[in-house]
Amino acid sequence: MRKISLLVVGTVAFDAVETPHGKVARMLGGAATYAAVAASYFAPVRLVAVVGDDFTARDHSIFRGRPIDTQGLERVPGRSFFWSGKYTPDMNDRTTLDTQLNVLAEFDPKLPEAYRDSPFVFLGNIQPSLQHRVLRQLRRKPRLVAMDTMNYWIEGALSDLRALLRQVHVLVINDAEARQLSGRHNLVQAAARIQAMGPKAVVIKRGEHGATLFRGHQVFSAPGMPLHHVCDPTGAGDSFAGGFIGYLAGQGLTPSNGHLDIAALRRAVIYGSVMGSFCCEKFGVDRFRTLTREEIEARYREFQDCTEF
Ligand code: AMP
Repeated sequence: MRKISLLVVGTVAFDAVETPHGKVARMLGGAATYAAVAASYFAPVRLVAVVGDDFTARDHSIFRGRPIDTQGLERVPGRSFFWSGKYTPDMNDRTTLDTQLNVLAEFDPKLPEAYRDSPFVFLGNIQPSLQHRVLRQLRRKPRLVAMDTMNYWIEGALSDLRALLRQVHVLVINDAEARQLSGRHNLVQAAARIQAMGPKAVVIKRGEHGATLFRGHQVFSAPGMPLHHVCDPTGAGDSFAGGFIGYLAGQGLTPSNGHLDIAALRRAVIYGSVMGSFCCEKFGVDRFRTLTREEIEARYREFQDCTEF
């Protein structure tokens, strides 16, 4: 059987981060990088993003040896998207110190012909207008569209974002952003309000406290994996999203009669949590350089053990 492909769009970036465990002045990052790499353990990925001429063959090597098609990774003159952030001592919060759009400011995503039939789509964090432009280039209606966004776009591009939300099945978002988008502090109310904006399901990520899935009146909560050592949480949210949607794509799971299977969504939340937890163990994408599918399955079982009662 032909494996079902997942289209991933978002940023491929360079990040500068400071955590209680150290400071890195420049490392490969970006929402699409984390999501694509995490999803590729479960399904073939088609990547759409832009980089500048500062992106080297060495940077590109993170995608090599994985089922990630990079035909849609455009390279243009200039500097790649750059983000810098500093974490609080407990690493549950961070301050953005700098965001430089650079080549992202002029990006006009063009889907390679071979990508236009993608049945699964993950619209990673990027301008909502660009997420929309990607959707419009698909030849037929995708089976499942999930998306992420963040405060930067909620503040700067709310009407584009609201228009886009009407076209997606699942929104994966963190707690602060869910509150900001919905205007509700209570997360149950926030999720209900967001579902009224379009998505049939909402996954709210809560950092080390785990993630909660809302679909209609059904709720499923996964704890954060208790980790002995958290090095750098950058990209954990995107890795969560990649594991979540990658698992659904790998299983070919789609809404039937407009409904997503709740049991499959629960498993997807756990795979998302597993991928987010691995991401935190090293700086940037480094943990994924050695991570194996066997380690993923072992941690999935650990999750089952520590939540069964
Ligand atoms: P996460 O820790 O999962 O929220 O994602 C961190 C990644 O998001 C970093 O690698 C950044 O390069 C990327 N990022 C930060 N700000 C933005 C933004 N405004 N739009 C898109 N990607 C961003």
